[in-house]
Amino acid sequence: MIFRKKKYHFNPVSLRYEEIITDRKRRLRNFFSYLVVILAVTLISGYLLNHVFGSRETRLLESQVKVLNRQMLVLLNKGRNYSASLRNDIFKKDNHYRTILQIDTLDYSFRLAGSGGSAAADGLSLQSNITNQLDNLIRKLNQQLQIQTGSFEAIYRKAQDYAGYNSHLPAIQPVSQNDLIMISSNFGIRSDPFLFMAQVHCGLDFVTPVGCDVYATGDGIVTFINYSRTGYGNEVVIDHEYGFGSRYAHLHDIKVKAGEVVKRGQVIGSVGQTGRATGPHLHYEVLYQHKPVNPAIYFDSGLTREEYAQIINKASNEIN
Ligand SMILES: [Zn+2]
Repeated sequence: MIFRKKKYHFNPVSLRYEEIITDRKRRLRNFFSYLVVILAVTLISGYLLNHVFGSRETRLLESQVKVLNRQMLVLLNKGRNYSASLRNDIFKKDNHYRTILQIDTLDYSFRLAGSGGSAAADGLSLQSNITNQLDNLIRKLNQQLQIQTGSFEAIYRKAQDYAGYNSHLPAIQPVSQNDLIMISSNFGIRSDPFLFMAQVHCGLDFVTPVGCDVYATGDGIVTFINYSRTGYGNEVVIDHEYGFGSRYAHLHDIKVKAGEVVKRGQVIGSVGQTGRATGPHLHYEVLYQHKPVNPAIYFDSGLTREEYAQIINKASNEIN
């Protein structure tokens, strides 16, 4: 709105300041004069803002947007490399581990979390779709990593089971090779030393001097102890889980109790001649599903004397 300023002049006759009244044409001309001046000022200000001050800020912003686009593109490419690494390396190794541990392998379409193809196949431009592609890639990677984490956990549990199975298996000789004089009877049919007729011998007979240490051949729990002058004599039976058990007979003495948890290599007694025995020896049986099997099948034949000693020492240290 234009405020017209009143003007006055001094009237020497009336001795008063009186308002100067302009005519209509003059007021109209004044109005257009103001309008032209305002328009000119507005146009010049706009020009200055856009072409002198504004352009510099715009150029700066455009430059920053380009830098951000480049940085997002770098991130996108890094993400794609991780995705490729998952597909080409981790997924293959994971399925390889699953095969070794006899776990069903995972289908690749499942591993890709229904992504419907790689992100690299998407169209790329330096515009706003970089953000969408980045967001999409991160989402896919997150889903794939969740699946992979679950798979590794399943593999870890299975590997732990497998390690437990290995430590429980009755897989070492129950007497030291240093003490062993001979194996007098093998598993199978033999001539019974008392009856002088063919009988099935359900274990192995290890001949050593009386008093030599007898070791638990695998981790387990002592389920049976018997002191007797007949049959197996002084006897220990260990349950190794996974269907396996072991029996140690004709012992001189017994150093474990029923219900005791034992480790492979732990001393459970000593070699004797108790029960139905013609001389000092350890009668050793391995049981699978409660039936005697040949213990020699489960011995780790590749074990050296040093490795055997390490197992005994390890068990001794764990107990003490
Ligand atoms: Zn025997």
